[in-house]
Amino acid sequence: MSEKIALVTGGTRGIGEAICKNFLENSFRVITCATNAERNARWLDMRISEGYSNVDCYVCDVSDYEQCRSTVADIEQKYGQIDILVNNAGITRDASLKKMTKENWDAVLRTNLDSLFNITSHVLPLMLKRNYGRIINISSVNGEKGQFGQTNYAAAKAGTHGFTKSLAREVSNKNITVNTVSPGYIETDMMASIPKNILDDIIGQIPVGRLGKPEEIAEVVYFLTTGGAEYITGSVISVNGGLHMY
Ligand code: NDP
Repeated sequence: MSEKIALVTGGTRGIGEAICKNFLENSFRVITCATNAERNARWLDMRISEGYSNVDCYVCDVSDYEQCRSTVADIEQKYGQIDILVNNAGITRDASLKKMTKENWDAVLRTNLDSLFNITSHVLPLMLKRNYGRIINISSVNGEKGQFGQTNYAAAKAGTHGFTKSLAREVSNKNITVNTVSPGYIETDMMASIPKNILDDIIGQIPVGRLGKPEEIAEVVYFLTTGGAEYITGSVISVNGGLHMY
């Protein structure tokens, strides 16, 4: 197979969906996974109605090691390779630390951070075998700066940066790059839980004066898969309208 095969976790909504659409427009075969079977089916129908046949969608909870193992094994059996991995799936469960429950701590750490190990440890051997790979992990500006009510989320996203840099060192001589794209506040369902007055404050702090669009993250992710980016590894690319400066 000469086409590039990409696995994008959490590609049925928001940033992940924009990444999938961008990849499809660039003629990649796109495989995604998410937990909601009905939405997955709708997502797949939608892509097929748009004329794409090079798509697939798995029900897989990225916080679950065994589900990730069997999903990647199935993809290998069906398609033989994974050239590009985008670890995008993520959740928030915000609360100040004094109100943070163990359940919310664990859910966020498992979905946003354990998932990197759960998926990547199974995909990496396929990339090593072919001496090629592009791994892109989606972090957050709040993993760089911290945020009130997000000790769990900021810790998980900061962990993403350590994971990225360490793995980049391990595989840099194998033609595999590993980078983090760190979005600021992007218009997706994830933002829907933020009260309007807080959102207005946030927008007021963004130097370019607006929220970002999922497509703006997807463009940067795509660039990291192109030949022009082959000298970039172990990097954190901030896409946040300048918010990281404050
Ligand atoms: P959305 O909530 O819009 O979409 C999340 C996607 O991940 C959905 O497809 C969802 O599908 C899937 N997902 C959630 N949990 C799991 C799981 N356990 N296993 C597999 N799939 C899962 O999120 P965004 O698009 O806003 O965020 C995408 C990434 O970008 C996340 O990592 C987020 O932390 C990061 N980010 C987002 C920002 C923003 O402002 N929106 C800012 C900075 C970073 P389903 O529910 O069916 O499982």
